[in-house]
Amino acid sequence: MLNKLLLSVAACLALLPTTRRATAAETPNIVVIFADDLGYGDLGCFGHPTIKTPNLDRMAAEGVRLTQFYSASPVCTPSRAALMTGRLPIRSGMCSDTRRVLFPNSGGGIPASEITMAEALKDAGYATACVGKWHLGHLPQFLPTSNGFDSYFGIPYSNDMDRVNDAPKGRESFWNPKVEYWNVPLMRNLEIAERPADQTTITRRYTEAALSFIKENKDRKFFLYLPHSLPHVPLFRSKEFEGRSLRGLFGDVVEEIDWSVGQVLDTLRRLKLDQNTIVWFTSDNGPWLTFNEHGGSAGLLRDGKGTTWDGGMREPSVCWWPGTIPAGQVSAELGTTMDIYVTNLALAGAAKPTDRHIDGYDLTDMLKGKTESPRKEVLYYRGTRLMAMRVGPWKAHFITQESYTGNNKAVEHDPPVLYNLNVDPSEKWNVASDHPDIIAAIKRAAVRHKETVEPAPSQLEIPLK
Ligand code: MG
Repeated sequence: MLNKLLLSVAACLALLPTTRRATAAETPNIVVIFADDLGYGDLGCFGHPTIKTPNLDRMAAEGVRLTQFYSASPVCTPSRAALMTGRLPIRSGMCSDTRRVLFPNSGGGIPASEITMAEALKDAGYATACVGKWHLGHLPQFLPTSNGFDSYFGIPYSNDMDRVNDAPKGRESFWNPKVEYWNVPLMRNLEIAERPADQTTITRRYTEAALSFIKENKDRKFFLYLPHSLPHVPLFRSKEFEGRSLRGLFGDVVEEIDWSVGQVLDTLRRLKLDQNTIVWFTSDNGPWLTFNEHGGSAGLLRDGKGTTWDGGMREPSVCWWPGTIPAGQVSAELGTTMDIYVTNLALAGAAKPTDRHIDGYDLTDMLKGKTESPRKEVLYYRGTRLMAMRVGPWKAHFITQESYTGNNKAVEHDPPVLYNLNVDPSEKWNVASDHPDIIAAIKRAAVRHKETVEPAPSQLEIPLK
């Protein structure tokens, strides 16, 4: 009998995957904090002269500040899809050249066939919660609780959608925003809990929900995804933050998000979970520059949201895991939000999907300061088009296009426009004529990349029935 039992145990063990899985003792809790439209230059620790972000500055001082870290798209929906799937949006259909993001009248969303970060971590035994802006589809089958999250609390799409007809026209309603101008829902799981969402308290309430989730799950592994609705316009902040910042309303909003980050980290410290939790902070895309002082700043990077200039996709990013990530690092190694997916799965001991192309890399050793980044390339997509590609320090633009203003026509370049981003982060000096060999190499790399891409049907063009 005992022999038989031992044999069946041995048989079961033989069926286990042979790849090494982290043991429960070494798998950290995972927190991903995602700002909306926060620019590369909007944090104190990324050089903003008047916005005060002491909590993010401390997080950076205790962890690693990532100075060349990218999103996978310069707009919301595709960027979030890439973070959640580890894949370029063109592979999941979460992009489009006609409708750049999902809208309340969209009928599409993240396909069920995608393996979200939450689904993978839940399978690895994590408690999972999404608190904040989802924007991967607002119909029930697309919402977080249908995609690996045990719970959801938040505004399911952008906070400037559902504008009511009698709100001031054009940008007028943004310059002096009132909650009632945007009839956006605040959802709890699949139900609408409040409409319009009181956006003045949204950052505070997201924070409270996040802290509750951490406290409730302090004795087990958890994954908290905290995508803030702000500082996307319209800008709102709670009473406590009114008029606090020298940078005006936008500064107040960023400073409230900084407060929120401090609350999360303080709670982890208080519960003695700080040594066993990895926290990422980054943004979905660059600043919305055409909103004047209501938009953020890309610092010394060129342009902003909506474009494939670096200001549209390079994000102010910090990673924190005291005791594991050495304090006070500043890393210019390449990374993207798709690497967050792969890194988190690896840390959790979750299996990385092998039946599909995953675009992320495991950055664990890079974060620990042990190695260079395994990532050597960055792909800059606008909708379905590969506009530019970075290899090492060199970025070649095949197509350039401004976003929301001026000449909005796509301009093709042959030879491509070439910049050395280590030397010229503002993309000012085209050095293509000096480096035909580098251009040829990047062109070949782009061809190799395209051979791996099978564009999925766009989810963003499906109308609501
Ligand atoms: Mg955004």
